[in-house]
Amino acid sequence: MEKEVSLSVKCPMCDSSLMENHVLFGNKPTVKVNIETEHDRGVLWLSCIYGSSEKKLSIEIADGEIVDMYCPHCNKELAIEDNCHECNAPLVAFVIKAGGVVRICSRKGCDSHHIVFKEVSAEMSKFYYEYGF
Ligand SMILES: [Zn+2]
Ligand SMILES: [Zn+2]
Repeated sequence: MEKEVSLSVKCPMCDSSLMENHVLFGNKPTVKVNIETEHDRGVLWLSCIYGSSEKKLSIEIADGEIVDMYCPHCNKELAIEDNCHECNAPLVAFVIKAGGVVRICSRKGCDSHHIVFKEVSAEMSKFYYEYGF
C-alpha cells in the first residue's frame, strides 16, 4: 500500500501558511489560494495529499482553462517562470514547510505536479524523516 504524504505549504513570497484548517478533505486540511480567470475570480482549495488531484472551486472553470493563482495573504501571483512539460501552461510553486518546493500546473484538468528539492540529499532526508517513508 502506498503511503499518503500530506504536505504543509506556505507562500514563497511572504512565508504565510497556505493551509486552510476550516475546509477539510477527509480529515486533512486543504491548501487555499485565490484564483482569477479571464472572466471570474474565486477561491481554490487543493488537497494537501501529494499526488491527489482532489480540489474544490468557488467558481466554475472549464477544463483546459488556465487559472492564475494568488496568495490569499500578500496577493502576489504564485506562478513561476517555468512551464508544464505536459501542456505548457505556467507552473505554480508552493514552498513545503519541511523543505523543497511543490510545483503544480495552472491548467484545470492537467494534474501534472512534482516536488523540487534544492539540496537533494539534505532536503530529501529531512522530507523522508518528517513524512516517515
Ligand atoms: Zn504570500
Ligand atoms: Zn499542465
